[in-house]
Amino acid sequence: MSHPERPVLMIVAAPAGAGKTTLCDRLLAEFPRLRYSISCTTRQPRGNEKDGVDYHFVTEEAFQSRIEHGDFLETANVHGNWYGTLHGTVRDALQAGDDVIMDIDVQGAESIRAAMESGEDLLRDSFFDVFILPPSMQVLEARLIARAEDTSDVIKTRLGNAVGEMECQHKFAHVMTNDDLDQATADLRKIYLSECKTQGGRA
Ligand code: 5GP
Repeated sequence: MSHPERPVLMIVAAPAGAGKTTLCDRLLAEFPRLRYSISCTTRQPRGNEKDGVDYHFVTEEAFQSRIEHGDFLETANVHGNWYGTLHGTVRDALQAGDDVIMDIDVQGAESIRAAMESGEDLLRDSFFDVFILPPSMQVLEARLIARAEDTSDVIKTRLGNAVGEMECQHKFAHVMTNDDLDQATADLRKIYLSECKTQGGRA
């Protein structure tokens, strides 16, 4: 049965440097009823990142305590730091009728897919996922170097992880490439709007 006002829960995953944060930001700027799911992380803020906007930056102890309270829909250790999606954030937004966009890693997408199997109807019925590919490993490396946020060791780890992450692309409902940013924005918009239509949302 179709629900004319059912919100969508969109997971966007990609290797670091594929441009998913920029693409998510562009979609968020365009669609006011799309909410960003702010994750918790134990990593340090980078550059202009703000607590409560980009992430909830927490200590390892606080993260553990939230695990014990059952606050997370999923958690993952990515590149040596902990990340977790807050169940309450996602559920509250969907219950309010808003669409949700989650920027998480491949392990997180896997956990959410598994949780959906047995999860609440609201989450299960709203969910779809998108994997964003870089045009090539060379371009990915060049982007990580150009953004100058990581040491060369961290870049090496991220590139190594990217290979394994890209092997999981077949598990995603949608796969797209971010070569040209405007074209990729258009592609992601099209996926979002088509899922809203299929699932009965109101973009
Ligand atoms: P960054 O440290 O560059 O912000 O993020 C590193 C990776 O962690 C990215 O792939 C990002 O999508 C992922 N990530 C951010 N938040 C979460 C989360 O709540 N859960 C999971 N599983 N991954 C996350």
